[in-house]
Amino acid sequence: MNVRVRAHILTAAVIGIITALLAAALLAGALPAAPRSVLAALAGLAAAAIAAEYVARAGRGRVTALATSAQRSAEAMSRQLEELSKDRARMEAILSGMVEGVFVLDRQGRVQLVNRAAQEMLHVDSSAIGRLYLEVIRHPDISAQLATALRGETVDADELPLGRDLSRLFMARAAPVAGAGGGAVLVLHDITDLKRADQIRRDFVANVSHELRTPLTAIRGYVEALAEGPDAEQTRRFVEIIARHSLRMERLVADLLRLARLDARQEVLDSAPCEVQQIFTAVVTDLAQTVEDKRQRVVLAVAPDACSITADPAKLHDVVRNLVENAVNYSPEQAEIQLAAARQDGALVITVSDTGPGIPESDLTRIFERFYRVDKARTRPGGTGLGLAIVRHLVELHGGSVKAENRKTGGAMFTVTLPS
Ligand code: ADP
Repeated sequence: MNVRVRAHILTAAVIGIITALLAAALLAGALPAAPRSVLAALAGLAAAAIAAEYVARAGRGRVTALATSAQRSAEAMSRQLEELSKDRARMEAILSGMVEGVFVLDRQGRVQLVNRAAQEMLHVDSSAIGRLYLEVIRHPDISAQLATALRGETVDADELPLGRDLSRLFMARAAPVAGAGGGAVLVLHDITDLKRADQIRRDFVANVSHELRTPLTAIRGYVEALAEGPDAEQTRRFVEIIARHSLRMERLVADLLRLARLDARQEVLDSAPCEVQQIFTAVVTDLAQTVEDKRQRVVLAVAPDACSITADPAKLHDVVRNLVENAVNYSPEQAEIQLAAARQDGALVITVSDTGPGIPESDLTRIFERFYRVDKARTRPGGTGLGLAIVRHLVELHGGSVKAENRKTGGAMFTVTLPS
């Protein structure tokens, strides 16, 4: 082997070692991302250049084989590096798109990664990278979790408020990183909505139990009184009370079942052209006895362009009936209730206005919640507290909206807006 060829082999070996070192550094993640990609390119180029030089100068025998294999290695390495950088870009895209916060520390407790969600939750920015977590994390519970995880121990999750909005609740759990040089990873989930839904469910169960217990207790009491053999007049009165409470329970169960069906989307719209006047008249006929008992009047006003609409007639009837029934119940004797339909920007607008006590401003949106009552003492005896929740469901099923407001002259006004 002549001196020139040996010198080339030596140069190739040196460049090969540098390339290998660079590749090792890259793969171990020891260099920051930008210089790494530049060095990767340089390493690939150097290896490819030396191989090309061999082919050009020696061009035969073992030297050619060596050069060809060096070139192949260079190409393979450059492919690997390309894959690596694609993987990294993919991982960064996934992390930044995640709603969960991810915060990664190396073995020394220096921040390696903090995705966008974690930046918001922990109130830090990307300048946290490379710093000790204790300088960056202000929350003592999270710092304690990270310290435990860095010691390689498992940690129990914590539920805590984080970020600027202290009404939001997060589940934080840190875990040690096994292998890959150790360290710790903290994952943060926003559980505010989950907690809220859980609370609503608990309240609902408590409300249902309470609503059922009241009539049941009354029924049991009067049944026991009947067993003692009261006189005929008392018997009649007790039976009447039992019947009233049974009816209340029956209504409550019917409303609950209806809400459950609506929640499960089991009630579908059966739309057809409807005559608004016809629906209004049917509701007034339904409630005629109560209206007469209270010597009230229901005044109808249907604008000429609001005579008809395509809607589910039975559901529209239930909506109007619920609102008029409330108006009748909450208005004093001899009151006038107005039931009107008009057209506004193409939509059908139905209003039910009364002269009752009205609704406190702070309760105007809450009255559509299940079992929400403005004033328990003022509640009508037969009410279930579910009527307006059903109304809202039925209106929204039609793609419409319902709102409550107070009239300037006193009393409440409910407005249902239905798209045509
Ligand atoms: P309820 O069976 O108790 O009437 P609703 O869901 O129909 O249940 O109504 C919820 C609450 O909204 C009522 O308990 C009452 O406090 C209030 N409310 C509803 N309609 C009226 C109205 N027209 N005037 C005053 N308050 C009303």
